[in-house]
Amino acid sequence: MGTARKSLDRERATIGVMVRMYCAGHHGTSDGHLCAECAELLPYAEVRLEKCPFGPDKGPCSKCEVHCYKPEMRQRVQAVMRYAGPRMLTRHPVMGVRHLVKGFKGNPKPPSRQ
Ligand SMILES: [Zn+2]
Repeated sequence: MGTARKSLDRERATIGVMVRMYCAGHHGTSDGHLCAECAELLPYAEVRLEKCPFGPDKGPCSKCEVHCYKPEMRQRVQAVMRYAGPRMLTRHPVMGVRHLVKGFKGNPKPPSRQ
């Protein structure tokens, strides 16, 4: 069970990276700073992750019967996942984002290599 805890920490770190990536891409922030909007979103997403009763073994969030995201926040997190997800999978393949991305994107496809 010790590895479950570690995996959760890693997902937490991962979502931080993703929100920063999204914020830099969409809101023109840099050096790991977040705009007010994203500074609100990140802790929200972290808490949802922390409180998820299924832990790291859960299925995709979109199929989860616990609707833990408020609709507005859910949309914002979805936008982050859609933007940062494919980039994370290519740039940081070691980070445990696969089920997060899968959950928010619906039908997963491998990132296209062009
Ligand atoms: Zn932002």
